[in-house]
Amino acid sequence: MSECTHDCSSCKENCSERKESFLKKPHELSDIKRVIGVVSGKGGVGKSMVTAMSAVIFNRRGYKTAIMDADVTGPSIPRMFGVKERAQGSETGLLPVKSKTGIEIMSVNLLLENESDPVVWRGPVIGGVVQQFWTDVIWNDVDYMFVDMPPGTGDVPLTVFQSIPVDGIIVVASPQELVSMIVEKAVKMANMMHVPVLGVVENMSYVECPDCKKKIYLYGESNTEKICKDFSLPLLAQIPVDTALAKQSDRGLIELFEGDYLEDAATAIETLMKNLPVKEK
Ligand code: ADP
Repeated sequence: MSECTHDCSSCKENCSERKESFLKKPHELSDIKRVIGVVSGKGGVGKSMVTAMSAVIFNRRGYKTAIMDADVTGPSIPRMFGVKERAQGSETGLLPVKSKTGIEIMSVNLLLENESDPVVWRGPVIGGVVQQFWTDVIWNDVDYMFVDMPPGTGDVPLTVFQSIPVDGIIVVASPQELVSMIVEKAVKMANMMHVPVLGVVENMSYVECPDCKKKIYLYGESNTEKICKDFSLPLLAQIPVDTALAKQSDRGLIELFEGDYLEDAATAIETLMKNLPVKEK
């Protein structure tokens, strides 16, 4: 980082002292109360799964819920919900597609001609698309929006954080990763953006023996609990590898999942959110 000149207008560094705001206004017809970002250190650890399950639980609890799929190069939310129709738009704005249980979804896969088309855009274009998901989509009446963030803590997630007023973030990690490094990076990024980390979800923590129900820790006993303590963060949940869950999500039936892995986490998040001042959107 270069030496601080205290002139934010000519500086591109993102430091905690930065006064200039990059936050964008949502579409004038949108009404979004809470935005929760779901982040991970890399792809494939279950970030989209946690985003989808969280949205399903909040929807079941009676909240009007939405998912913004900001994982533009690996968009898997529409597939998990079995949503195939294209998003419709007019001059006024773009409308999210509703899932079977009424969750509003916007994803680049709902805009592509062919959902299997690869998205090979560079970082700034991806950042621009996500910004438009915020500014040009009419999110009608949303109590909780979950944002499936681009993986990592690089340029693209940072742009998203800078443009969307996220109220809190959930960190998803799996035990075979360097969890302490991922949590540390996520905490630093969140601090830069003045966004609280709500807690950590450890995914694919263990496998349960179908006969004796013993938990088998494939990577040895997890140290995520200790890491969470070190960072004073709640360990929101430990989700096992669950083949039934994977099958349901692959078939587009995530809304039918019955596991209670994230119920306590959802209650903790609900409480945290009730106690946090509502940010202007
Ligand atoms: P990410 O969003 O981090 O890239 P995904 O949520 O898309 O990861 O998950 C990657 C793959 O792992 C998907 O096929 C998903 O169905 C599967 N998966 C995620 N979590 C679990 C789990 N707890 N049990 C079984 N399969 C899982």
